[in-house]
Amino acid sequence: MKKIAILTSGGDAPGMNACIRAIVLTAARFDIEVIGYAHGYNGLLNQEYASLRPRDVHNIIQRGGTILRSARCDAFKSENAAQLAAQHLNTLGIEALLVIGGDGSFRGALHLSQFWQGQVIGIPGTIDNDIVGSDATIGYYTAIETALESIDKVRDTADAHERVFVVEVMGRHAGFIGLHAAVASSADYVVVPELIKDTKTELNAILSQLDEIKRRRGHCSYVIVISENLWAGGATELATILHKETQLECRPVILGHVQRGGSPVSQDRLLATKLGAYAVEEAIAGKNRIMVGEINQQPVSNELASAWTNTKSLDGYLVKVQTDFFNLSKQP
Ligand code: ATP
Repeated sequence: MKKIAILTSGGDAPGMNACIRAIVLTAARFDIEVIGYAHGYNGLLNQEYASLRPRDVHNIIQRGGTILRSARCDAFKSENAAQLAAQHLNTLGIEALLVIGGDGSFRGALHLSQFWQGQVIGIPGTIDNDIVGSDATIGYYTAIETALESIDKVRDTADAHERVFVVEVMGRHAGFIGLHAAVASSADYVVVPELIKDTKTELNAILSQLDEIKRRRGHCSYVIVISENLWAGGATELATILHKETQLECRPVILGHVQRGGSPVSQDRLLATKLGAYAVEEAIAGKNRIMVGEINQQPVSNELASAWTNTKSLDGYLVKVQTDFFNLSKQP
């Protein structure tokens, strides 16, 4: 193998740079040239690329974002676009394309491989952790830390003013960030897509717990963590409803894109390093249409499509503990 290419696509995630570094350094060990495409699949279509040498990835492991930039590219979904990308890859003599991104980016890679003979390999890079085939995805650990740090701060002001806060976290359609940040910050209530019954049931549960806490403590500082895309109107709407129902001061806090940024924590750097190195080794071994991942600390590879044909479950024991604590808090 003489030449491979990489791109970062979809939402950026802390640790993508660590992964780019690992790919370039591993490829250098085998004398393989690495081409980096800019702006996700847009770069493939517009021929926006540069050669990446070991000196280009010096001192980037600690940087958030991605030196290749990331983007969404709806145009890439067409046959014509994939054919054009295939032509460009062939002209440069690229034998394998490594795509760091989420399941949408993997769909893009599989789409391309219908029109291109080269190998495509996905590396899971998304804060949402919603990809089956890897215990965690690159960026997920840092996103939890960022959310956690913010919720801890919200808790301080909630206590000082005896207020109710509804904190909205990211996750797209998955509750990994929500559940983990909520348990780690001892939030009073958590609403995530995998566990939500219906909005009325959740609202009643929150109101009865609020009632009990108020009765017991004589005041109420209360923190709810809610995933994005879950409740019509999100945290703002829920805070408004709660205020109407309880007359307590209720404030929404939408954490938003801060959860995507920042220097990656060690777990993300280590995961990114392992997966980047392993992806190159798998490319050299001739693997195609796969995604790499880590299960029980072992690097593994699976069919690319398994990333979206299966749904990853939340940690069942953590859900049980959170539910047990919630029930305890309702006891008089
Ligand atoms: P995240 O969920 O973290 O934002 P993602 O990779 O899932 O990451 P998407 O916006 O779903 O993000 O997809 C990223 C890009 O992948 C799209 O903008 C598009 O370029 C490409 N893509 C997604 N789905 C397809 C598809 N069915 N066919 C071709 N390309 C696709």
